[in-house]
Amino acid sequence: MIRPRHFIFALFFRLTVAIAAPPLVAIDVGHGGPDGGATSARGRPEFAFNREFAGVLAGIMRGRGESVREVNFVGDIGSLVARPEQAAGSDFFISIHHDSIDESWLKPWLWQGTEQTYTEVKRGYGIFVSAHNPDLETSLICASSMGAMLRRAGFVPSAWHGRKHLAADAENGVWYYDNLVVLYRTTLPAVLFEAGVIKHRDEELELADPERQARMADALATGIAACLFVTGKSARE
Ligand SMILES: [Zn+2]
Repeated sequence: MIRPRHFIFALFFRLTVAIAAPPLVAIDVGHGGPDGGATSARGRPEFAFNREFAGVLAGIMRGRGESVREVNFVGDIGSLVARPEQAAGSDFFISIHHDSIDESWLKPWLWQGTEQTYTEVKRGYGIFVSAHNPDLETSLICASSMGAMLRRAGFVPSAWHGRKHLAADAENGVWYYDNLVVLYRTTLPAVLFEAGVIKHRDEELELADPERQARMADALATGIAACLFVTGKSARE
């Protein structure tokens, strides 16, 4: 049983600790170096989208007084394992990606004189967690919180992931992807975020729009901050 006075003290303690130690979030830019990741409908490498959006997200979090650890912002990280290693000591790990689709679904088209491929059947964001993550509970709460904030801001999750992945919280666009090194070779709660499908010609343009990037990053930052607050993970005692 918690007596009211104790509860108020505990709440005050939590608030003061939370204010004293805002969350430290590690933001990882997916791919890099010779591995550009997927290629957009107009031929732009995924890494460029990842780097751009990670920068927007980092800026918004810092603007809120939160701390950010940049992982692979230069694009020269040596290995997958090095990503969570560089994030050690943070409160949360998010890896930024942009999505593609299996080749069998691609159609050819010409863009500025070069042959490219695109899809019309898949679009929307996805949030992935690994059941092998040592803090699966926090990972799931944060993923759902992020997805809920994205939907509240008008973003739509991709139902396509249900073809390959078990649902963790399909309504909010959260799926299991258990064997992702960046999500389980870590001690931190962790998610991989696919911002959208760059093979979709309309969504590619939307994903490159700075105003939309800021709205999406704002929703994500709110979801992460809320989750770390309610789970008590933002206080690095
Ligand atoms: Zn990727």
